[in-house]
Amino acid sequence: MGKGPDDQLLDTLAGVIRDYGRFSFDLERQDARKTQALFDQWSQHLLTGIPPPGAEKPASTKAFSELRAQFTAQRKQEQSEFTLSVDGLRDVVWSFITSLNREVAASDAADAKLSESMGALGSAMQTAPAAEIRKLALDAVKQVQTALQVRRERQEKQLAALSTKLTSVTSQLEVARREANTDGLTQLFNRKAFDARLEQTSEFAMISGGAAAVLLFDIDHFKKVNDTYGHPAGDAILKAVANAAARTFRGRSDFVARYGGEELVALISDRSHVDVMRAAENLREAVAAVRVPWAGEQLGVTVSVGVASRERGELSASWLARADAALYRAKKLGRNRCEG
Ligand code: GH3
Ligand code: MG
Ligand code: MG
Repeated sequence: MGKGPDDQLLDTLAGVIRDYGRFSFDLERQDARKTQALFDQWSQHLLTGIPPPGAEKPASTKAFSELRAQFTAQRKQEQSEFTLSVDGLRDVVWSFITSLNREVAASDAADAKLSESMGALGSAMQTAPAAEIRKLALDAVKQVQTALQVRRERQEKQLAALSTKLTSVTSQLEVARREANTDGLTQLFNRKAFDARLEQTSEFAMISGGAAAVLLFDIDHFKKVNDTYGHPAGDAILKAVANAAARTFRGRSDFVARYGGEELVALISDRSHVDVMRAAENLREAVAAVRVPWAGEQLGVTVSVGVASRERGELSASWLARADAALYRAKKLGRNRCEG
């Protein structure tokens, strides 16, 4: 037996109602499963006459007006929540645009592109449907990522360049500092460095009560060497004497400098006066053993050494003056000897 138009109408309405429930979505006050169950029941009510939702007993007539009221209420709720969520999306995207616009200056290509897509998003905000806004927002997010990436790479490059520059400036400074303290001819410390070191040693000895000694030594009859073999020969000898001194005083706290002209100086710490005098003697012997080949000859020189072990409470000036006086004595007593 075929169905009449009324039955077909009822079937269709029941199907529509069931599908409406099946494809519902979560609302704030009612999740999708509940909506589906509700409209399933309505659908069953239309087809089989089971009680409609909310009713106890099977009804003799179909509850069409209740169905319509419930359907309308459901739909209204959906519409209001949908509008709210689109408005919410607009709000979020809008604050995203405004806060990013503040951050992003259109200074380079990536940022310019970003500004462009932010602009498009901004104007779409007024009228475009949610799907369009969503697409444009995703676009903008991609542009933000690109811009940030570009920015980060640029900053990393700048940082690397800066650190290279800093390293080279640091090593240049180090070189300059060393040069400022080094004597060009002998490569020993210069007078300036010695003066500073003497002060330091003096102050440290004052505090610690440790021993320290100055050995001032001067090449004997050096003028004669220059006069006989020439200034370059003198320079070569001066360098060789400096090397011999540096080899003799190679301890961690030993310090050797060119005091001026052919006069050199050593500062040594933590040794008894006897040991200091022994070290002075080692120096004298080491210099006397030096030979500098020059124009077929083996040139040699000697030094006179003036020694002063620092006395308790002594100021650096008087300490150094005592070494100078001892050197003067060594010269007076015949040179190539140590006095202290
Ligand atoms: P003394 O034993 O008394 O020290 O005699 P001296 O000849 O060494 O002393 P004097 O002070 O008369 O002469 C020092 C000489 O040292 C004079 C100077 O030309 C020379 N002299 C100083 N500095 C240098 C230098 O850098 N290179 C060379 N070649 N000679 C130098
Ligand atoms: Mg001399
Ligand atoms: Mg001299």
